[in-house]
Amino acid sequence: MVLMLSFNVPPFVGEELIYVEQAVKNHKISGDGEFTKKCNKWLENKFSAQKVLLTTSGTSALDMAMLLCGFQSGDEVILPSYTFSSTATSILVGGGTPVFVDIRPDTMNIDETKIEAAITSRTKAIIAVHYAGVACEMDTIMDIARRHNLKVIEDAAQAVMSTYKGKFLGTIGDFGCYSFHETKNYSMGEGGALVINDSAYNERAEILREKGTNRSKFFRGQVDKYTWVDVGDSYLPSELNAAYLWAQLQRADEINNNRLETWQTYYDAFKPLVDKKLLEIPTVPAECKHNGHMFYLKLKNLDERTKFIQHMRNNGVGCVFHYVPLHSAPAGRKYCRFHGEDKFTTIESERLVRLPMYYGISKEDLNYVMATIKKFFE
Ligand SMILES: *Cc1c(COP(=O)(O)O)cnc(C)c1O
Repeated sequence: MVLMLSFNVPPFVGEELIYVEQAVKNHKISGDGEFTKKCNKWLENKFSAQKVLLTTSGTSALDMAMLLCGFQSGDEVILPSYTFSSTATSILVGGGTPVFVDIRPDTMNIDETKIEAAITSRTKAIIAVHYAGVACEMDTIMDIARRHNLKVIEDAAQAVMSTYKGKFLGTIGDFGCYSFHETKNYSMGEGGALVINDSAYNERAEILREKGTNRSKFFRGQVDKYTWVDVGDSYLPSELNAAYLWAQLQRADEINNNRLETWQTYYDAFKPLVDKKLLEIPTVPAECKHNGHMFYLKLKNLDERTKFIQHMRNNGVGCVFHYVPLHSAPAGRKYCRFHGEDKFTTIESERLVRLPMYYGISKEDLNYVMATIKKFFE
């Protein structure tokens, strides 16, 4: 048996251990210490964001965004069904109802041309999930939102460092949500960040994140004692996690370039098979710069994909499929509805398989993966 080549290896650049040790020696391992502040500032500066707050996960960043939207019972939020459960659970946490819209087959992102038909008098927001770090058609989505007075939340969990028409993803809508889970491009184990693009939400966001208290204001000396003022939760990550992330942000460009190189290697290798119509590979629209988060293939159908994954496994390579559309899941059937026809969501999701992709994957391993795939098609 060949040793299994992993689908993902969590990013590690080396300096993480130094910074984690520093946090321990500083006697500050709870939240909002030096490393958290450094990460917030770095993200704000790099992405020209008004305000960024590290959170305990991408999920909690989405939860915060939804709570800040202030839904009433019965309010609806439009999102794709082809996404992670967190995108939908955050709507429930915020008191809204998820309404799914079909995706585009080329990017697997929400089909912006089908959003407007799903809007009702109860619609309050749209969540744009930037799948594989490739941007949704944001100009169209922002235009629809403006005309119907809707909030836009970017689920940019996979899209840290990606851009749309030169703007960093996460900074275009009202809120942006990043994930720093170990499967994402930059990691802190479990963690994330909320990007707040309208300063009117800064104060309430800090309160929500600090158990409903105005503690952040107290630490800045703006009030002389801190007190419980609103609903809240605990969304600030440990300094140990922030210290780990800080090391990776220092090398963000290096990590990004390395992933893009791997992505391009796959792209070039499979282009001939695409030309022979044996498979499909990701499409990146001209106005989008992606971050090499993911490389996927699309096979003919579910049956061929099952055989493909088995072939790869037999040859020691871990390849995985991705989301089972949420509207077909038990909770999706219970809490959500799908507007319009499911023309692409199910059928396209059943064809997709993700290839090993992580920072620092070796050339030999890549060559082995590509050769194994080519064998499947011979
Ligand atoms: C990873 C991911 C999340 C959740 O992020 P966590 O940090 O794991 O909570 C949400 N949405 C999408 C699209 C993701 O890929």
